[in-house]
Amino acid sequence: MPDKHYSFFGAVEKSFDKAAKFTKWEKGILEQIKECNAVFQMRFPLKRDDGNIEVIEAYRVQHSHHKAPCKGGIRFAAEVNQDEVMALAALMTYKCAIVNVPFGGGKGGIRINPKKYSPYELEKITRRYTAELIKKNFIGPGTDVPAPDYGTGEREMAWILDTYSAMHPGEIDAAGCVTGKPVTQGGVRGRREATGLGVFFGLREVCNMPDIMKKLGLTTGVEGKRVVVQGLGNVGYHSAKFFQDAGAKIVGLAEYEGAIWSDKGLDVDEVFNHRKKTGSILDFPGANNFEKNGDALEMDCDILIPAALENVINGENAPRVKAKIIGEAANGPLTPDADDVFGKKGTLVVPDMYLNAGGVTVSYFEWLKNLSHVRYGRLEKRFAENLNTHILGQMEELSGKRVKENEREFIMHGPDEVDLVYSGLEETMIAATHEIMNTWKNNPAIPDMRTAAYVVAINKVGTSYAELGIFP
Ligand code: GLU
Repeated sequence: MPDKHYSFFGAVEKSFDKAAKFTKWEKGILEQIKECNAVFQMRFPLKRDDGNIEVIEAYRVQHSHHKAPCKGGIRFAAEVNQDEVMALAALMTYKCAIVNVPFGGGKGGIRINPKKYSPYELEKITRRYTAELIKKNFIGPGTDVPAPDYGTGEREMAWILDTYSAMHPGEIDAAGCVTGKPVTQGGVRGRREATGLGVFFGLREVCNMPDIMKKLGLTTGVEGKRVVVQGLGNVGYHSAKFFQDAGAKIVGLAEYEGAIWSDKGLDVDEVFNHRKKTGSILDFPGANNFEKNGDALEMDCDILIPAALENVINGENAPRVKAKIIGEAANGPLTPDADDVFGKKGTLVVPDMYLNAGGVTVSYFEWLKNLSHVRYGRLEKRFAENLNTHILGQMEELSGKRVKENEREFIMHGPDEVDLVYSGLEETMIAATHEIMNTWKNNPAIPDMRTAAYVVAINKVGTSYAELGIFP
């Protein structure tokens, strides 16, 4: 059960206040950063396939206008409410600031369980929601750019783009009104796995810091680390997969119907296919079922990655969590009470607003691609290949030796779109990790990494407001 004393937005505000003390900004600027600038709550009717009319409740929140456009996903979930969307929009502002993505924070939500609606009903809901956003100027390449989130994906983004384009004939930058689109509709290669890959890059960087690892009693590096992932959706699946590929051992996986573990390690794709075939993660050959799916969070491991919804680790279960590192792939999986517990225990919490920023980082690349109307790598790929071939030829001629065939391919290869997206993301996550860790090291009074991340974010947004001036 989540802690009773904070709403989700209240929890974000509490973390903000904890960090604001370590910044130089006056009260007014801090208030301006903290508040949600615009909240759009809507209701519209849906005619269900059976002929009944249902009223749909939906939101779009623009947390910060210090940069334009606002940016953030749209979530389809039965629990969506205004407080949740406000909290998620605020996290987007801080997330974008930390990874130097020049957007304000936004978030949308539709209060439905998507599993209970047909694809046709979902399409109607998405298109109507988009139309409502258009009516109020809450969507557009320069105003507010949605993306996928929990319960949505490429299909929904394609519907949004189609609705927006139909209502903005001739708008040449229309494709930039939404990100996370299918590649055939202006999406960018690498966006689908971006959040999971960012989670991996961020945690790998932390694991490569000898002083941090020593304090936790762990060896340096990702290889051999025992990892538990909660949630096998887009983010959880890809996080688990990148860890497995890097030599970590996935010892536990949890979904809402149950959880499994194996000391020998679970093959992520095999578990994924087993779930697809049987409809459940349970009874995976060679693995053990947990009694309750929450038990997976308390399993003995090095890294725990909650990758589903908020508030899953709270004051009640945090004392039983044994992981040394918690990587927040989801938004807000820990309550402030859980933070307090981990602070005392010395568990390293790697915070959501930086760790899961890979999604919005690659969304930024997609948006830039849409505005520039050219695929990444199109101009330089052949040039780089010609140049590499020439350099290699010269080296071989001068040395009289020939490079091995597989090395040859690697050296000569010019960048494809996905190579540039991956390397841009890797650089972003490495730089953000170091910026946060250095802020933390330079001010030992900062109690934890989340607070250090907030300090970095508040300073950037604060500078932006101070330099913009406040409109009289
Ligand atoms: N929904 C994702 C997030 O929470 C991605 C947002 C985006 O790409 O704009 O960060």
